[in-house]
Amino acid sequence: MIHTWRIGDAAVTSLVEYVGPTHAPEATFPAFNLDTFRKREAELPPGAWYPRISRFTIGIQIWILKRGNDVVIIDTGVGNYKVRPPARMHMLNTLVPQWLAAAGAEPDVVTHVLITHLHSDHIGWNTSLEDQRWAPTFPKARYLVPKTDYDYFKGLNDSGKAGDTSFADSLAPIFDAGLVTFVNKSSELPGGLEPAEAFGHTPGQMNYWLRSRGEVGVFSADVLHHPVQILNPTWNTAFCVLPDQAIATRAQVLADAASSSALIMPCHFPAPHAGYVRKAGNAYRFEPAQPGSPIAT
Ligand SMILES: [Zn+2]
Repeated sequence: MIHTWRIGDAAVTSLVEYVGPTHAPEATFPAFNLDTFRKREAELPPGAWYPRISRFTIGIQIWILKRGNDVVIIDTGVGNYKVRPPARMHMLNTLVPQWLAAAGAEPDVVTHVLITHLHSDHIGWNTSLEDQRWAPTFPKARYLVPKTDYDYFKGLNDSGKAGDTSFADSLAPIFDAGLVTFVNKSSELPGGLEPAEAFGHTPGQMNYWLRSRGEVGVFSADVLHHPVQILNPTWNTAFCVLPDQAIATRAQVLADAASSSALIMPCHFPAPHAGYVRKAGNAYRFEPAQPGSPIAT
């Protein structure tokens, strides 16, 4: 599905690579507690949780920001034909390039690819298989890569501890092509985006804030994987590298998103894939966004 929302003078589009009830509670959230969960289960959006098979719905989203002359892709999903350990990610064959075109972001018109962090499900479409080799999917774009995360994942790769081949098949080719600029909290970004450190899920994860005409949005990466974490903010995923820092970052992002009424644009939420964090006494609740326009602008 493709949905477009407006934030001030910017258009933001969610493109779903895939989505489904795939994630078992305890394996996904080590702190999951069924009694605690049940108290607020009814607040989850329809289809976010499938009790008959005890699975949370998780998707892979690729975000597109259009503002002025900038066409920015924020994170690039899993990608096609990548060898990956999880079955749901292994050797995909989807139509993402055509869906990007449907959203007005054909590979040749993309000006920037902005990465939040370097897990394999956020960098896959950096490259595509061409003549048996991995080539940049967006040859005219600058690829903007968080420096702290790069250092961490390069260390894992160089020491043989990476766990998959994503560094070689999805990062090395864009470096070889000379397309990469590193990002840190002081970087000037396309689309007027503002970088913010969101360390924890990975050591160098970044968030990107958008402010336009009094409206606010945040590409919040994997600070949150699922709306259940807005209801239970201390529930990290099993994939959070620095658990204490991930909890602290989540608390900060929730507070900032609530106080600014920001549209949060995470990478893995079930439909409608974006929404708002609202204060609810001493806790938070999730307000799903109204589905965006299916016609990309
Ligand atoms: Zn992720």
